[in-house]
Amino acid sequence: MQETTTEHLPVALLDVSRGNAPLRDEIIAALSEVYESGRFLYGPQVGELESQIAKLSNTRHAIGCASGSDALLLALMANEIGAGDEVIVPSFTFFATASCVRRLGAKLVFADIDPKTYNICPESVASKITPNTRAIIPVHLFGQSAEIDVICRIAADRDILVIEDTAQALGGAYHGRPLGSWGQIGCTSFYPTKNLGGIGDGGMMTTDSDQIASRLRLLSAHGMQPRYFHRELGINSRLDTLQAAALLVKLKYLPKYTAARQENAKHYFELFHEAGLVGQGASAVVQLPYQDPASFHVWNQFSIRVTEGRRDELRQYLAARAIGSEIYYPIPLHLQECFQDCGYKEGSLPASEAAAGEILHLPIYPELTRAEQAAVVDGITCYLKAARGRKAA
Ligand SMILES: *Cc1c(COP(=O)(O)O)cnc(C)c1O
Repeated sequence: MQETTTEHLPVALLDVSRGNAPLRDEIIAALSEVYESGRFLYGPQVGELESQIAKLSNTRHAIGCASGSDALLLALMANEIGAGDEVIVPSFTFFATASCVRRLGAKLVFADIDPKTYNICPESVASKITPNTRAIIPVHLFGQSAEIDVICRIAADRDILVIEDTAQALGGAYHGRPLGSWGQIGCTSFYPTKNLGGIGDGGMMTTDSDQIASRLRLLSAHGMQPRYFHRELGINSRLDTLQAAALLVKLKYLPKYTAARQENAKHYFELFHEAGLVGQGASAVVQLPYQDPASFHVWNQFSIRVTEGRRDELRQYLAARAIGSEIYYPIPLHLQECFQDCGYKEGSLPASEAAAGEILHLPIYPELTRAEQAAVVDGITCYLKAARGRKAA
């Protein structure tokens, strides 16, 4: 690849339209079919998507709902988790993993992460268990499985529920077993930037239990059964037929999208090595993501670690070259203002705090080109050269 073609090529962090554009006619046809049918809720496409996601996850049931956030909320509601109960979640994750716990009046207990994978640390989880612990919500962050086998063992010994947050890892697996099938319930999201992204909000829950499945359905539809009889306090959280129709089109391509993300990740590794930024003799300012060999990683995100306090400066440098990057997540949840009353302070969860200060995410979406990847790595190389020059001067 020629230098001149890659220099200062702008690279967007995300480009949802690039993925959807080739499917335009197929998606519009699917949407117009729903439009003509008038079955905007509970249309046959919803059931079809549910059975295909259940198959993908190797679970008996999948139940659609309005978002990944609602999926987590419903999973807790279906198990009657509330005041007096404790739920353990990682601090280094998206807000929705934790907000559902607080919303139901249960006690949020934050665990620290494994600094290599950024996933919830089983030892930290074990140390936080009390007689009131009812559930653990491991997140398969950035597309890579948490040590879900160990967490399920810890939980099973004590009769604690495991609710997997698979919002970033649909299609992923651990030791060959699909994510979303390990815990009692798996919760996923079809937010447009997830591995299977809709044209709006959407979510789904997977489970092997007939009883949990029917409770999830009941609670997502106002707890109403039969019509206008409410035994339980449900919510209104459905997956629209229009979303399901668009998602069914895209689901056919999910293996292709996943393979493209994996290819892009592999190519980043090659480019970083070629540029001498990592490996033997490199300065180790930049660290590449650790890959758990047992995990079938679906690369929702590609995260590098930038040490020596250089992360924010590097990000600005890239932005000046119109190269998009993002920080997932700049503030761990135990330090968020709305969770202040949980009693954590700076230093409480050191691995989460260190990750929040050093992590940086690069574009990884399936349609990213080789030239764009080269431009990203070139930008990082130039920054490090300039920074070293300044230090020497
Ligand atoms: C996106 C996401 C959610 C929430 O999904 P929504 O569909 O946006 O509500 C929950 N957990 C994690 C880890 C996520 O990345």
